[in-house]
Amino acid sequence: MRYYSTNDPNTTVTLREAVVRGLAPDRGLYMPNSIKRLGQEFFNEIHALSFQQIADEVAMAFFGEDLPETDIRRITEDTLNFDIPLVEVSPGIYSLELFHGPTLAFKDIGARFMARLLEYFIAHEEEKTHKGESVVNVLVATSGDTGSAVANGFLGVNGIHVYVLYPKGKVSPIQESQFTTLGHNITAVEVDGVFDDCQRLVKQAFMDAELRNHLVMTSANSINVARFLPQAFYYFYAYAQLRAFQLSGKAPEGEPVISVPSGNFGNLTAGLIAHRMGLPVKYFVAANNANDVFLKYLLTGTYCPQPTRQTLANAMDVGAPSNFARILDLYANSLEAIRNDIRGDAFTDEAIKDIIRDCYHHTGYILDPHGACAYEALRRHLKRNEPGIFLETAHPAKFKEKVDDILDTDIPIPQRLSAFMKGQKKTVAMSKHFPDFKEYLLQSSGE
Ligand SMILES: *Cc1c(COP(=O)(O)O)cnc(C)c1O
Repeated sequence: MRYYSTNDPNTTVTLREAVVRGLAPDRGLYMPNSIKRLGQEFFNEIHALSFQQIADEVAMAFFGEDLPETDIRRITEDTLNFDIPLVEVSPGIYSLELFHGPTLAFKDIGARFMARLLEYFIAHEEEKTHKGESVVNVLVATSGDTGSAVANGFLGVNGIHVYVLYPKGKVSPIQESQFTTLGHNITAVEVDGVFDDCQRLVKQAFMDAELRNHLVMTSANSINVARFLPQAFYYFYAYAQLRAFQLSGKAPEGEPVISVPSGNFGNLTAGLIAHRMGLPVKYFVAANNANDVFLKYLLTGTYCPQPTRQTLANAMDVGAPSNFARILDLYANSLEAIRNDIRGDAFTDEAIKDIIRDCYHHTGYILDPHGACAYEALRRHLKRNEPGIFLETAHPAKFKEKVDDILDTDIPIPQRLSAFMKGQKKTVAMSKHFPDFKEYLLQSSGE
């Protein structure tokens, strides 16, 4: 499969180039040249298939021209060794719990898949550095969630070194422990600055000609096709589980409405791609926090990126969603077509608190602040006797202090999270000035 840049549909690259580059040289985002429709038989039988079988089918549609089937199966197997259950919260409303992976957040899935795919390319095509070693450097700036998922996804993967840049003192201890205690091929870089400084350092590194000559560098956020596309798998699996409920008379009939808590819109865009592959979805709801540029776009037709606002649902604090370019591309810039498939909603911090409280009191289900936006957006849009699914993107214990504060609870920290806290923190101290970071990268890669 060839991949084109959203800024230039006429120039295409291979999957490997798209993955290793991350962003296209013209600053566009890579899109697959064609999106295959899956057969009706697949959808007729989907309720009887395992997550693994579903993921293999979808992964073959994406990557089957580029990798042998046995390798694709091995990669999906390594990626998806945990369940993604669809849980009934109230009649007709289902939570797709995406948080049963190693760092209890949905980004685990894309990060793990990307790590295995890169590993495959390195093993097969030998990305040579100037010293003849095989190393691809993954640079990632994080305010918490992305860093932990990427670091854990890439831990121990041959030929890859990960640098996680994070703002000193601005990440919760539990999140910090998830990428500073790992060691091996993961280096945590503690930047004396804010998240925007970390992001700027990473961007400058990608643009620096001298660094590019010395190092192979890529990004691991949702601009990377290898992280973004595998997120389509669980939309199919959600549908499969819903079908099983419907066939046993437990769920309302009909195509589901799917609500997605959105920041950079990678997750939602993966759902749109699943829909394009034939997945029956009535429509999607893009649920936002106070960063509501997408909702404003739907309402007014004008897209105005905004400075980021800090909210309770901080993994969605994005004022200029990078995957917006992909959505425009998928719908050939048609506002009408976009409105047909996607509705929007947005919630203030006060609203998020009320939602978490109300849901807990009426159903007993504990939402995290991100899932809370999706849950309420779904409830507002869903009609009687329609089935609805919202994506629960993080375990509430990841936001324990906030959730306990709102609900007056003491939710237990899963053993997987507390285990990180016991590790030894190891970081590299860094100023927020690019020449210091550059010097460090050049030195550590030359060792
Ligand atoms: C990253 C993240 C989101 C937003 O996902 P996008 O793909 O950036 O829209 C939502 N919830 C949680 C918990 C996240 O970590």
